[in-house]
Amino acid sequence: MGDTAVSVLRRVRNNVAMISLHSGTSGARHRFRSHVHIPPNRIQRVLRFSFHAALVILLTILTQVGGLVWLLATCFKHKLLAFLLLYSAVTLTLPVATPYFGRVALTCQQSGPLQMQSRVYCVLNRHYVTPELATVLTDTANHMSRRYPGTVTLVLDANFPFMNGFPLLPHLSHNDGRRADLAFYYRNATVYQPNATRSPIGYFAFEPGPTHCPPVWPTLRWNLTLLQPLWRTFSLEQQRKRALLTHLAKDDRIGKIFIEPHLVRTLNVSHPKIRIQGCRAARYDDHIHIQQ
Ligand SMILES: [Zn+2]
Repeated sequence: MGDTAVSVLRRVRNNVAMISLHSGTSGARHRFRSHVHIPPNRIQRVLRFSFHAALVILLTILTQVGGLVWLLATCFKHKLLAFLLLYSAVTLTLPVATPYFGRVALTCQQSGPLQMQSRVYCVLNRHYVTPELATVLTDTANHMSRRYPGTVTLVLDANFPFMNGFPLLPHLSHNDGRRADLAFYYRNATVYQPNATRSPIGYFAFEPGPTHCPPVWPTLRWNLTLLQPLWRTFSLEQQRKRALLTHLAKDDRIGKIFIEPHLVRTLNVSHPKIRIQGCRAARYDDHIHIQQ
């Protein structure tokens, strides 16, 4: 054999030795596996991706447009600052754009007969309705203010700015601009309390009363028993509430009003439009739901 043939044989022998190291005996396999590790930068990339994905989902659930804005903000060096600036700009611009998509923003002014219960609803873009429902709400609040001067009708969750079928969680039905929730009117021991709700967000301060719904799990009829002692001890302002429900029920532009049956009986406001949505929906003895 010449020099060339010898060198070829040596290379083949070395290759066979390397192959046996990686795929041969169990001892060799064990030694090979013990050196397998995921590079730290790859773990970081996975964690970073998971963080951004979770944030996009959360912001989309809360605000509809926030997830997209965060994706945009990730292109900038100072992501949080970019997000805050971009989100503010988008939120301020939306009321100008959404009428072209069939929705208008309810007023965020903290004055007048119709107000959002909290500016948080405006910041989260949860105060959009169809133009017709906006008119109904304004008319209703004006009616209540004329009948009981100083009355403020407070809106809770309404709808997102865009897209029919996009639910405003946890309200599965608030997905077309045609629905809105109203806070109850409250009084202290003696008089009506304008702009007041028992809980900070207007929801979850349940009025006690009997229910025909059996206890099941899972359910949206949360009782949130531990939270109840934390709320203010106002009671329902029944006169205004009865007047509101009667006025809404007479309005041809309103199709349904959801409220718990025990409150319908207490207020004596029986009407075909006033009903319970069903035992699978949320409780309606902390707010009123109306829809076109
Ligand atoms: Zn509702």
